[in-house]
Amino acid sequence: MPNKTLRVERVTKRYGALTAVNQLTLTIRAGEVFALLGPNGAGKTTTLEMIEGLRQPDEGRVWWGDVDLAQKPAYARQRFGVQLQNSEFFELLTVRETLELFHSLYRQRLAVPDLIVRLDLAEKQHARVGSLSGGQRQRLALACALVNDPEIVFLDEPSAGLDPQARQNLWAVIRQLQAEGRTVVLTTHYMEEAAALADRVAIVDHGTILDEGTVDELIHRHTPSAVLELSREVGRDVASALSSVQRVDIQADALLLVTDQLEKTLIELVNWANDHQRPLTGLKTRQATLEDVFLTLTGRSLRE
Ligand code: ATP
Repeated sequence: MPNKTLRVERVTKRYGALTAVNQLTLTIRAGEVFALLGPNGAGKTTTLEMIEGLRQPDEGRVWWGDVDLAQKPAYARQRFGVQLQNSEFFELLTVRETLELFHSLYRQRLAVPDLIVRLDLAEKQHARVGSLSGGQRQRLALACALVNDPEIVFLDEPSAGLDPQARQNLWAVIRQLQAEGRTVVLTTHYMEEAAALADRVAIVDHGTILDEGTVDELIHRHTPSAVLELSREVGRDVASALSSVQRVDIQADALLLVTDQLEKTLIELVNWANDHQRPLTGLKTRQATLEDVFLTLTGRSLRE
């Protein structure tokens, strides 16, 4: 499949006094799965919609290969596949009729029966859209996004509201799209999703990219390698006794001790517990994750 690099150059979008996206720059390579990871309201949807041509940036440009998309919006529409966060459909049409309608809009396209099989909609193909469950509707939205055999597929929070099995199925579809040579750009606030799927991740907050790279690069750049979790009832004064801990994060029910000297921290912790006769309730150790990177970069949790 022919494919091109997408370059987003200093795009800005203001809604009144709010700057939702602020001079955002990124490069998405042909054939990669790229995730915009950030909390609600970070500006992910607005960024995606500016790339897709659905929203006009106040400043900045989007290039696909050597084409400035503002100059050739129809060019992008033919070759981009777009799944919005909330897709509006004609509720009285059937699944199959809906796909046929979308199919009729494009020159290059995939066959409707194949899409129905691929998105596991065969049983529902004659059902009205209004009767679909959330997961089925989401699969229909994805089928509609693929109908023009797109070179780039944009998925805005594709797994929002899906149960774990449906999420696994979606991930398999996304991996297949990449195997076919398509570029996939998705937004998510699930770090597991970004970690499982994306070749590269951009962490977005307040309309700017705080950093981007592979998951491993981001973890190495921003957090020491291990995290010890303790129940909050252990008490935050534990931290003052541990010279090897870089940072302490206090969450709703846990204390996170971030360290790059796991063994030393464990020894200090056990000594402290002995000296103070305190149990180490809920002690767990784990490798640092994207969630820890987000905490380091913003001081907040992705899930807040
Ligand atoms: P979510 O996952 O909740 O959609 P997001 O990261 O995609 O979050 P955006 O939807 O791009 O974020 O929103 C960025 C900011 O811009 C938010 O503060 C939002 O309230 C605001 N915003 C988005 N669309 C509009 C609009 N049409 N008018 C005014 N403000 C808007």
